Amino acid sequence: MKGSIRLFTIFGISINIHITFFLLLLFVLSGGIKWVCLVIGVFFFVTMHELCHSLAAKRFGIKVREITLLPIGGVAAMSKMPEKPSQELFISLAGPLSNIAVIIVFYYPLKVLLGADVLFHPLSAQTWPLTLAYIYWLNLMLAAFNMLPAFPMDGGRVLRAILASWLGYQRATRIAVNFGHVFALAFAYFGITRFNIILIVIAVFIYMAASNEELQVDIKETLKKFKVRDILPRDFYTCEPDTTLGKVLELVYHSHQEDFPVVDGGEMTGFVTRQEIMAAMHRFGADIAIGEIMAKDFPRAKDTDSLIKIQNIMHEKSARALPVMRDGLVVGVVTIEDIGRIYAMASQGAR
Ligand SMILES: [Zn+2]
Repeated sequence: MKGSIRLFTIFGISINIHITFFLLLLFVLSGGIKWVCLVIGVFFFVTMHELCHSLAAKRFGIKVREITLLPIGGVAAMSKMPEKPSQELFISLAGPLSNIAVIIVFYYPLKVLLGADVLFHPLSAQTWPLTLAYIYWLNLMLAAFNMLPAFPMDGGRVLRAILASWLGYQRATRIAVNFGHVFALAFAYFGITRFNIILIVIAVFIYMAASNEELQVDIKETLKKFKVRDILPRDFYTCEPDTTLGKVLELVYHSHQEDFPVVDGGEMTGFVTRQEIMAAMHRFGADIAIGEIMAKDFPRAKDTDSLIKIQNIMHEKSARALPVMRDGLVVGVVTIEDIGRIYAMASQGAR
């Protein structure tokens, strides 16, 4: 995520902290060392929560590149969304369950150590025992807030996963999104009547994130309906390994195609994209042969692939264009812009 700093890597997942989190740290520094411990506690348990989601996702072959910690919570960047409702259920429950486990493990030790008075005292960092009791409160809040049955909270995903099995994915999503909007309005109401700006910010965040979830699902459902061959342009150009970069640039200007399969004796041996053409032009000039700069190892699409599969491949491989294959022969190029047009169609249809 932009504006974040990598702290460390664990289980192959990079743990990043957003700079706004440091602002929070500066803010609480004025409150003294107990408040700093509190923020480190928040950091620790939010990371644990997100790591448990991520490890659950890994079990289903979903890669998690990074976890970013924001003052309002953590975000795990997953390579794709779980396909089956049962997987989504398992992944969504893993985070809050880790907080519930901490509550169970720490409840009696804290009660014995601090006494029931301190443990059930309203949240505060005035004394060390109260600060320690925060382990209990923080995890209770993380579990309770995240299990609200509304998007974008984990509980919203749990609700959708349960409803999806008999209402279908899209209708289940709509219900969890509506709950998200209801909770957002409730937070806004309490924020306004109690002059609590943080509640209002949370309300806006929940409302927008819930709406975005619905849009993402509408797009996904639309992308599922189309196959690559449905959107493939009839004409496309290829080049040969000894075609010069200058010739390829001419093709770009005349054809509006920007990514080219490189074909040698009827067989595709390479692929050059817009970025590679521009970078090579800058470094080597117009006379270099495409064979010198083409990628030899690159992802491919099949003309029978659904657009959702193509989107996943592009996302996972950070590619913006793929050559399209049929029976071992290249039959065209599909780009992220092609998918973008379907996106635009889906988001218009959704409103
Ligand atoms: Zn969570």
